[in-house]
Amino acid sequence: MTTEPYRPEPIETFQSKEAFEAMRQALAEVRAQFGRHYPLIIGGERVDTKEAITSTNPSNPAEVVGSSAKAGIAEADAALDAAWRAFTTWRDWPQEHRSRVLLKAAQIMKRRQRELEAWLVYEIGKNWTEAAADVAEAIDFTRYYALSALKYKDGAPVVPYPGEDNEAFYIPLGMGVVIAPWNFPLAILTGMTLAPIAVGNCVVAKPAEDTVVVAAKLFEILEEAGLPPGVANFLPGVGSEVGAYLVQHPRTRFINFTGSLEVGLKINEAAARLSPGQVWIKRVFLELGGKDALIVDETADLAAAAQATVQSAFGFQGQKCSAASRLIVVDKAYDLLMEQVLHRTEGLIVGPAEENPDLGPLASAQQEQTVLSYIQLGQQEARLALGGRKLEGGGYFVAPTIFEGVPPHARIAQEEIFGPVLSVIRVPDFDAALEVANDTRYGLTGGVFSRKRERLERARREFHVGNLYFNRKITGALVGVQPFGGFNLSGTDTKAGGPDYLLNFLQMKSVTERF
Ligand code: NAP
Ligand code: MG
Repeated sequence: MTTEPYRPEPIETFQSKEAFEAMRQALAEVRAQFGRHYPLIIGGERVDTKEAITSTNPSNPAEVVGSSAKAGIAEADAALDAAWRAFTTWRDWPQEHRSRVLLKAAQIMKRRQRELEAWLVYEIGKNWTEAAADVAEAIDFTRYYALSALKYKDGAPVVPYPGEDNEAFYIPLGMGVVIAPWNFPLAILTGMTLAPIAVGNCVVAKPAEDTVVVAAKLFEILEEAGLPPGVANFLPGVGSEVGAYLVQHPRTRFINFTGSLEVGLKINEAAARLSPGQVWIKRVFLELGGKDALIVDETADLAAAAQATVQSAFGFQGQKCSAASRLIVVDKAYDLLMEQVLHRTEGLIVGPAEENPDLGPLASAQQEQTVLSYIQLGQQEARLALGGRKLEGGGYFVAPTIFEGVPPHARIAQEEIFGPVLSVIRVPDFDAALEVANDTRYGLTGGVFSRKRERLERARREFHVGNLYFNRKITGALVGVQPFGGFNLSGTDTKAGGPDYLLNFLQMKSVTERF
């Protein structure tokens, strides 16, 4: 197989007239397709249901972007059957053949790049560049996993032993359930679905209810790429119903989940119980929330630190697991840094995502409600320095919000808010900064701005997070470049987009023949 080596896709910033115009056109074309209905896909067949899931535009919730069928227990059973049936052949495809299907899918995504971005803008309120990053990451996952799968095809080396022929090789696990969040509705769904598939597993994928249309686009692409029926089944439905059913099912072999800590813990518990008839221990991969901190000391480039803080805290309205939600500032840097952070934040434009503002709307009414209630709580726990209110305009617009004087154990300094809310904590020195940074139950991303070598080296060892960044923003991990996954209650550290990720979905078989 000859193909270009993997390199991350560049992320479009729409500065060129050409890209700008192409996006305007894609937005118009996608808008013309609003209101379409997307059935389930089970064993390659379109299946509709009585009930539907309606997906709206968070910039203007009166607009229906599209709808999907809504799977119940009967459809979940059918999807499980279809996936296991497909497994009997897909597991035996030569690895090159499977990888080619994925490489083809990546090319189709590339061809439909602007269109996919436009769906993300309308369905979940990403501005253009955030949407471009989501699509680029989806393409990256697809190519990266297609190519990394090749390295397992010849098995693992074993030590020769006299009189015997020994070998060890990898086989897939079987059928797994993929349960995805709405915040990277294309990239994360794509990565979690295609990694297990790349190495011969089959899946039933349940997207988040808020993003069923973008999810349906992925399944159109997989079909066009020639993925055989049943290998990936599209099963939108209610998480607590159909998701929970699939998790506990005795025929589910593994669960690949990204979402909240609360739901992740429920899944972990349910998956640990042996269901009647179950003959394996389920593998459970959980990528959960964060309370990510950025430390700035008195030696730092404060302009760069302020810019990175604002990008990390408010990109996609702070609705990233990697978002900076705590800014920990050493006393001597405090006034100068905060002046710049506040100034930059004041200049941010909030508006309908299709107009490509700095911040679009929050994803849903529920998100808006949660964020506003944390903002209310914050006013009791700390001092509101900026924002703190819902904005005009019909969409779920909330002003970027900064709290100062936040005690390290305040709830707004400990709980994931998942919105445009930054808690600023002032500390006497770098020692205290590191201590506060580590003093949470999460451990996903973190960052340090400093010019002191010994401080960076100390943070390298002691700042306990899965993804640590120095002197840059703490969001935007690239597939293959920064393997992604968190420590402690941020998850099982599966390191998506990392060199060992596919091993999660393989088991090793050792065979010995005595001559
Ligand atoms: P969520 O509420 O936990 O939902 C995630 C998925 O789980 C959805 O598809 C949901 O379905 C489903 N679900 C809900 N209850 C379930 C149950 N009892 N059993 C099985 N499935 C169930 O999370 P979210 O609001 O979509 O996403 C935001 C969270 O994801 C944040 O905490 C964020 O930090 C985290 N996240 C983590 C990473 C990472 O890599 N670590 C990346 C992105 C996001 P419904 O849509 O029907 O509710
Ligand atoms: Mg929506």
